[in-house]
Parts: sequence; structure tokens; C-alpha cells
Amino acid sequence: MSQPLDIGIAGAGLAGSLLASLLAQDGHRVTVFERREDPRRSGFIGGRSINLALSTRGLEALTAIGLQEKIMKDVVPMRGRIMHDPDGRTSFHPYSVAPSDAINSVSRGELNIELLKAADEHENVTLHFEKPIVDVDFASGFIKVESTEGNEPESIKFDLIVGADGAYSTMRNAMQCYPQRAGFGFSQTFISHSYKELVIPPLSDGSHALDPNALHIWPRGASMMIALPNADGSFTCTLFWPREGQGTSFESLAAADDVTAYIGQIYPDAVNLMPTLEEDARNNPVSPLVMISCDHWYCGEHSVLLGDAAHAIVPFFGQGMNSAFQDCMVLREHLRTHDNNVRRAIVTFSEQQKPNGDAISKLSLDNFLIMRDRVSSRWFRLSQHVEKWLHRLMPSRVQPVYNLVSFTTTPYQEIVKRQARRRQSIKSLLAVLISLAALVIAFFIGTFT
Ligand SMILES: Cc1cc2nc3c(=O)[nH]c(=O)nc-3n(C[C@H](O)[C@H](O)[C@H](O)COP(=O)(O)OP(=O)(O)OC[C@H]3O[C@@H](n4cnc5c(N)ncnc54)[C@H](O)[C@@H]3O)c2cc1C
Repeated sequence: MSQPLDIGIAGAGLAGSLLASLLAQDGHRVTVFERREDPRRSGFIGGRSINLALSTRGLEALTAIGLQEKIMKDVVPMRGRIMHDPDGRTSFHPYSVAPSDAINSVSRGELNIELLKAADEHENVTLHFEKPIVDVDFASGFIKVESTEGNEPESIKFDLIVGADGAYSTMRNAMQCYPQRAGFGFSQTFISHSYKELVIPPLSDGSHALDPNALHIWPRGASMMIALPNADGSFTCTLFWPREGQGTSFESLAAADDVTAYIGQIYPDAVNLMPTLEEDARNNPVSPLVMISCDHWYCGEHSVLLGDAAHAIVPFFGQGMNSAFQDCMVLREHLRTHDNNVRRAIVTFSEQQKPNGDAISKLSLDNFLIMRDRVSSRWFRLSQHVEKWLHRLMPSRVQPVYNLVSFTTTPYQEIVKRQARRRQSIKSLLAVLISLAALVIAFFIGTFT
């Protein structure tokens, strides 16, 4: 039996707090350092979205720590998309032919608090709040943590250090300064769109103002708004708009004299449901959307990144947290497979997950184009119907990409490969059909001339 490890985790966000429980289950001694205050005492202060779509990958991880049932009690299942056209017409498009398939709207703050409570129940987990990590010594495995008394940073040695400190990771920054970092290529891309959150409150009887069992989308070509239901009867709406430009953009919104009229001409059926629109639109921040990619996710003998720190993605497939949770499960699996040999585990983990991170990054960007634009096109809707019909006919052979991403745990890179193969088959089929048609036409021309 291999010895349990001393493991330090940077970040008690969604991935860090889940990972603490997973590793504690295997007997490791886990210490978590979080920059923020303890949300169990102070309430959750997040810089990110208020609610999230939780799907199969995330649920698998919650099941592994015994939290799935508790979390599922407070989610709002969303079984499809409801599209809102500019003229106010709506249409429902189920995600799957199986009625039980749904993605689940969950409160980010409550989920984080439940994950922390679960971690804290383990004797072998220690949680530190308001203790940001400031540096890592990758050669010897020391984390440097800010000292609260204003003294020199404290240095603490670990066998394994996990950077779960989010898209603007301190640990990743330190990796870039490590002298032996050769091969650690890194890219950070801000897309042209940013986001701002608005609110549709509950009706006076506490019920939802829109159908709660769907993700609502107002696709408008170069921009869109979405709304996810909350368990308290409200909806959190998110504007995904270009930052700048003459058309719909946050720049134009900031310059508008009448914010309600500006947003009302784009989403006429939504503004009447938003009594606090004026102040929300003026006061809520415009936040950027960043994509992060690293050549590999480990550094030296002891340290590894996961979640947003390793592969922040745009949120259009609702997979950032779900993929981060899958990272946590896979890292634990590699530690088990390699008998807690840290170096081997982090290298093989990175080799397995990095291509999956790249794949979900690509799928998420593709889904942005689908949601803001193609989802409202007749051709796209027709192709979706055909795909669903084929799926019903041959459920194991034809599975739409959306289903594979959201309702299975199939590795993302496998999904991208299948998508490429399917596109190739369709192209080949079309080529055969066109050749046959040409032969038939040539035959008739030859016969009648
Ligand atoms: C608008 C929007 C909508 C989204 N919707 C979805 C969705 O529907 N479904 C989905 O799956 N994902 C969604 N995501 C993505 C999801 O939010 C992230 O992928 C997820 O939060 C990643 O978890 P994480 O633990 O890696 O990072 P985070 O949740 O960002 O946690 C990082 C933690 O590290 C802490 N930290 C930072 N620096 C330090 C430091 N130096 N020392 C110690 N601690 C530190 C932070 O305070 C934070 O608590 C969305 C994202 C956005 C922006």
C-alpha cells in the first residue's frame, strides 16, 4: 500500500474544493489555500456568473463525493432551448430525444459552499481562507503563502501542489517564471465579446416569469442574450455582446441616453419583465471572456494545474466547471494508477487531459456561433431534426455532439474526432449522390440526343 501524500491546493473555488474531498477519500493530507474570505461566513462573493449549467460530467464528480442528491434537490432542470425571435415569437427545442436528459441550473455560490462543507467534514482536510499563494518553488515543492501579519510569505512543503486558482492563476504565472520552464508555451485570448448580467425577478406569486424548464436564448446574429432559471423564481440573464462597435455593443449601451429603450428594441419581450433593468444595466460590470491554453499542465516534480487555471474556456457549452470536475476525477485516477508516484501521475494526467481541454475549448467556441446565430436559421433547425431522427433510429451509432458533451462522460477529444468523421461521411455520401445524379443525367442526355 503506497503512502498517503501531503497535498497543497491553491484555490477553494469549484474545482479546488471538490478535489480536496476526492483526495481526502484516498487518505491524503490535503491543505487548501484560498485568497477570498470563507463564503460560509461572509456569503459568496463571486466575480463570475450567478448560476451555472451542471451536466453529466459534473454530476459524476458530485456522486463520487456523495453530494449529488443534495445538490440536485435545489437545481432547476432545463430540458431544451426556448428561442425568442425579434417579433416576440418563441419556439422550444429539446436537447435530447430522451425526456430524462436535462442540464441543471445551479447556484454557483451555494454549490461552492456545499463543496467546502463536504471537504471540511474530512479530518485530513485543512482549509485556509484569506491566504493567497504568492509563489511556488517548483524544484523543491514549496508553496509560498501570503502571511496575514504582513511578515515574509510562509513557505510550506508538499509532495503534490495543485493549481486550481482559476483563469488568472498565480501558480500558472509562477510556472512561466520558472527557469526550467522550457516547453511551457502559454496563450491567453480575450474574445471580442464580453458579458453583463441582468435579472428577471419572480412574479408576485413567486413563480417564474418565463418557462423555468428551459434555457432561454435571444439570438441576434452578432450578439445574444441568454437566461437561466434560479430556484427562487428569478432568472439570471446574460448579455453576450461585442465590447465595441456601432451596432449592438457595450460601448453603444454606455453611450445610450435611455438604456431601457436601447435594450428594449433588441429584446422587446424581455424588458417588461425586468423592473431593475436601468440600474442593473448601468451598475453591473462588463466582464471579459478569456480562453487559456498551456502546452502542458505540470511543472517540475510536484506541481500541476487543472480547471480554469489550465484551460479556461468560453462559457457557451456550459462546460467550464463540468470539465474542471472531470479533471479532478482524472487526476485522482492517475494518482491511484501510479501508486501515488507524483511525477508519473502529473505527467500522464497532463498527457490525457490537455487534448481534452483543447477539444472542449474548440467545441465551446463553435457553440457560440451556433447559439448566437445558427440556432435561429431554418437550415440549422432542419439539420438538428434530421440528426435527432437518426439518433432515435440508431441511438448507439448516431449521437449528436450536444448529447455527447452534456449527457455522457465521453472524452471531449473523442467527440471532436467523431464529429470530424461524421462530417467526412456526410461529404462522401453527398459526393456519391452528386456523382450518381450526374451519371443519370449523362445517361438521359446520351439516350435522347
Ligand atoms: C459567464 C460565465 C458563465 C459560465 N457558465 C458555466 C456553466 O453554465 N457551466 C459550467 O460548467 N461552467 C460555466 N462557467 C465556467 C466556470 O465558471 C468555470 O469553468 C469554473 O468556475 C472553473 O472552476 P475553477 O475552480 O477552476 O476556477 P474558479 O471557480 O475561478 O476558482 C478559483 C479559485 O481560486 C481562488 N484564487 C485565485 N487566485 C488565488 C491565489 N493566488 N491563491 C489562492 N486562491 C486563489 C479564487 O478566489 C477562486 O476561489 C461559466 C463562466 C462564466 C464566466
